[in-house]
Amino acid sequence: MIKRTLKQIHEMAEGLNDISPFQSKGINGVTIDSRTVKEGCLFIPLKGEQVDGHQYVKQALAQGAAASFWQRDVPNPPDDLPIIIVENTEKALQQLARSYRQELNIKVIGITGSNGKTTTKDMTAALLATAYKVHKTNGNFNNHLGLPLTVLSMAEDTEVAVLEMGMSSRGEIEFLSKMAKPDVAIITNIGESHLLDLGSREEIANAKLEIVEGLAKDGTLVYHGDEPLLRNRIKKDFPDLNVISFGRTEQNDLYPQAISQGADSTTFTIASGDKEIGYEIPVLGHHNVLNALAAILVANEFNVDDSAIRKGLSTIQLTNMRMELVEGAKGQKIINDAYNASPTSVKAAVELVEGLSGFENKILVLGDMLELGPQEKDFHTKIGELISNERIDRIFTYGPLAEFIAKGASKSFSSEQVRPFQDKQELIEELKSSTQENDIILVKASRGMKLEEVVQALQK
Ligand code: ATP
Ligand code: MG
Repeated sequence: MIKRTLKQIHEMAEGLNDISPFQSKGINGVTIDSRTVKEGCLFIPLKGEQVDGHQYVKQALAQGAAASFWQRDVPNPPDDLPIIIVENTEKALQQLARSYRQELNIKVIGITGSNGKTTTKDMTAALLATAYKVHKTNGNFNNHLGLPLTVLSMAEDTEVAVLEMGMSSRGEIEFLSKMAKPDVAIITNIGESHLLDLGSREEIANAKLEIVEGLAKDGTLVYHGDEPLLRNRIKKDFPDLNVISFGRTEQNDLYPQAISQGADSTTFTIASGDKEIGYEIPVLGHHNVLNALAAILVANEFNVDDSAIRKGLSTIQLTNMRMELVEGAKGQKIINDAYNASPTSVKAAVELVEGLSGFENKILVLGDMLELGPQEKDFHTKIGELISNERIDRIFTYGPLAEFIAKGASKSFSSEQVRPFQDKQELIEELKSSTQENDIILVKASRGMKLEEVVQALQK
């Protein structure tokens, strides 16, 4: 964070008390976690369900925090300490981020969508970093707390910020977008995550399109143009918006000509005039080509030249557990995608394995996809029905919902090929004894299923 005086912070966050004795103190950062207090930072205590951060205020100040917020309804604010009283500490954090963003003379890219936000964020940041000083969301810090903290951690020399925005209900993306004020917004895709809260895919699309509410007047929206819910609503409701689309089909501004899947990278070409330009990304899956296309469109907007784009793409590193290729103890290749799962992302991952060649056995280990609402069983059954028995050899499922994947698959697979499990240890034992070198194993489920434990066990 660029240094601010306590007086400035007080104004930015609409403080309620008199802080004149401390007003010239310098603040160089913000934290909500007393364990990460650094010399000169501002500590913001939040009232959580289990813990009230106010009990750590004195400790944070003793450890070097230059000042702290204090929520008005919390009794006994410490006397004679550099404390700014605010109506609500969480809102004050957000207000602080909003003012800080307004003061910065930088460009912001905001990224939302059902799947691929973090990946697209990492790819976009990698491409822009070839030409600019880039600040990006750390990991998955994409919500009402993560976003303001990300904004507030931007350094003095930042030129471009690439920020991820997540949501679980209507209004959240509008809120985050108005805080981050993006110059370029990306909607990666529309899937089925949060169907439970939002009710329909239309509503999911509407929720993602809220990102337009905070977009700069002359800003640009980059979106997945194969999704009719986006394409149609943009045409109808935002006819004057600058939009650019990417996708698999020719109706888009950017689409791939040919995609080819290697063992640990994916290559694709894009037509440019009468030439075709080749790109390589060190990650698997056609869906990652789409994420790369979104990143390329943004890089083009920022005039990054094509050789830098190609080089940037070849060196991207993605956050753990997103299509990570690891090796099992017996030499099996394992695609660890245990980070999360929704019907769209499971379909994408299954298609990826279906398209691979050169392996002895292609094996799917699929766990429950959570939070899908009343149609959850149908979603699982459909996934099972879509799996090609010509291109996949065996399917293991884990969990009560994933059993419906097994049910769906059993229409075209034999019972030896499809094995539902409810006990993780049994699943691990079976996988250990029945897989070997030259097998490829996809491991994917919702976060809550903790299927990374299966990956770890296979590596031992
Ligand atoms: P979260 O909501 O947890 O923040 P995210 O939107 O940031 O997720 P990523 O972490 O980038 O998404 O990717 C999560 C998983 O989604 C990947 O492992 C992959 O299986 C799948 N995925 C990534 N990109 C796409 C895409 N464009 N289309 C469909 N599935 C995708
Ligand atoms: Mg993410």
